[in-house]
Amino acid sequence: MASGVYLRFVDNFEVFNLSAELAAINFAARYKNSGFAVLIHCMIQIRTLLLLLLLFPLAASVQAGQHCKDTLLTLPPDTIPPDFHDIEEFLEEEDSAAVEEAEAFEGIWDEDVCALINCDLYNAVWDTTRINPYGINLKEKKDSTFLTLFHDVSCDYAHPTCGEITSEFGFRRTRYHYGIDLNLETGDEVFSVFEGTVRVARFSPTYGYYVIIRHLNGLETLYAHLSQIDVVAGKYIQAGDRVGLGGNTGRSRGSHLHFEVRFLGQQINPRDVISFENFTCSTKELCISPSNFDYLRKVEKQKAQVAARKYYKIRKGDTLSKIARKNRTTVAKLCKINKIIKKTKLRPGKKLRVA
Ligand SMILES: [Zn+2]
Repeated sequence: MASGVYLRFVDNFEVFNLSAELAAINFAARYKNSGFAVLIHCMIQIRTLLLLLLLFPLAASVQAGQHCKDTLLTLPPDTIPPDFHDIEEFLEEEDSAAVEEAEAFEGIWDEDVCALINCDLYNAVWDTTRINPYGINLKEKKDSTFLTLFHDVSCDYAHPTCGEITSEFGFRRTRYHYGIDLNLETGDEVFSVFEGTVRVARFSPTYGYYVIIRHLNGLETLYAHLSQIDVVAGKYIQAGDRVGLGGNTGRSRGSHLHFEVRFLGQQINPRDVISFENFTCSTKELCISPSNFDYLRKVEKQKAQVAARKYYKIRKGDTLSKIARKNRTTVAKLCKINKIIKKTKLRPGKKLRVA
């Protein structure tokens, strides 16, 4: 913001300086070959020197402003795929565009710059087929990114569907549920939560008919298990525009909307953005910090634990104590991890978890 203000100040100062200089030159021309002309030329030289001295600290402050903006998005270089390295170039290009914007639209510098940077997060990649084409490992994210979610609370957010939550973001036994499920009847309307451009509108065996929208605010949202899609990739839509009808397609048991909020391809808890009890967006400024992706480490740990599990195929004549001895464990442990009791009848051919 500071650099924008300074630049306007420089502009005004230069206009003033230029007109003063022209007047001085006219005056010197009129009194050519006189002592006056020498005096006026000396004055012009002193003014130019003073101007240069003033501009030096100014250039330094513009440089400092540039640095602040650069720190808004700092991803570890090794986590950025080759085609994503262009993002830095995009940010640099847009920084100069942002300065021009600030001069043209006085007073909205902050929001404009935010909007521009948010778009730039994805500008290098536009893929209408893959759900996460960015390949960014946000588990390694080191700093925070601030997103301005909307400008006017009354018209910039719409609830996707009004049904109650049937499943939260988080662990479901050993599997992680990366979205929130909202109850609906097949055929109920599903709406885009923010304005943006439809990036993906297609079918997958898991999500069924689904739509992904890239929003201006830097987030992407996903609407799955639809029975009908009403938009196509590339279509620009407003908050509250219908993306399709709810359904039960893909890997789904019963009609519901599986709703995800994603940042650079990775899911975050929709509750960080939306108040599902009040049907509103819960914050204007969203801070996406490394803690938003802590769950990825838990998922990794869980996957490792599941991979380390060992099973034993029950044979005829086996007892719990026999199996425990064979596998160097105890009956109590076997009962606990298999959620059985000592008296549970063992069926040959079935598998028993032993580690
Ligand atoms: Zn779900």
